[in-house]
Amino acid sequence: MTIRVALCGNPNVGKTSLFNALTGMRQYVANWPGVTVEVKEGVRSWKGHQLIITDLPGTYSLFATSLDEKIARDFLLYNTPDVVVVVADALSMEQGLYLLLEILELEARAILVVNAIDEAKKKGLIIDKQELSKHLKVPVVLTSALTGEGIHELLDCIVSTASTEQKKVLFNFSDETEKMIQQLATLIKTQVGESASRWFAIKYLEGDPHTVEQLSRFDLQSSVKPGSLKSQIARERYDHIQLIVKESVAA
Ligand code: GDP
Ligand code: MG
Ligand code: MG
Repeated sequence: MTIRVALCGNPNVGKTSLFNALTGMRQYVANWPGVTVEVKEGVRSWKGHQLIITDLPGTYSLFATSLDEKIARDFLLYNTPDVVVVVADALSMEQGLYLLLEILELEARAILVVNAIDEAKKKGLIIDKQELSKHLKVPVVLTSALTGEGIHELLDCIVSTASTEQKKVLFNFSDETEKMIQQLATLIKTQVGESASRWFAIKYLEGDPHTVEQLSRFDLQSSVKPGSLKSQIARERYDHIQLIVKESVAA
């Protein structure tokens, strides 16, 4: 089976180092029309499967403000890779988990990789991957691109995740926020499709310029203001993340 894998995460968390560890020398610069940012692709055979791996530009969020973010986001939205590997830095997981929560809204099959586990060990941090996985409801692999720890486990995890069912949304906001999301999703679903309606509703409520522009044909502004839940949505995600980190990381 051919499995298309996207590697994404914040800048400098070790995506390219992991990409090199996963693909070795079998990589090339992807020829994407109209894209000036260099995007690398590579292949890896693993237990009878062919993995095609894309090293996406670093991004803090899928709120597409920079070109890098727009490329990563468009790839995830429109190329719909079979497995999305979200790489987070073991020493500062929060920002990576934020991106993971956004990616889960795309109903992607996601894996959380906590990289630089060598550094975490040096600092005496103990990261409980079962606990992380339990809260996030996605598989978690601890890796070090430096020592090679966890790389084979990650390859196995990619293969097993690829054949699971596509994830439905795994993070629920507060009842109040969910109500707003669902109301808006209902208004737009005939236009954007049932499956993408939640994603676009959330992005509209966050005030994402790309989404607001896309939905500008509908007269939504009179009932729901774009960006009206921007800080609320961010706060709910961060509260959830803080709770997870508290229960999963011991110093
Ligand atoms: P990217 O920006 O996410 O692609 O990150 P890079 O792969 O370029 O790595 C950023 C820096 O972190 C480089 O100096 C790497 O050598 C270092 N690095 C990457 N992975 C690890 C790791 O697992 N352990 C340690 N100690 N350093 C790492
Ligand atoms: Mg970098
Ligand atoms: Mg890189």
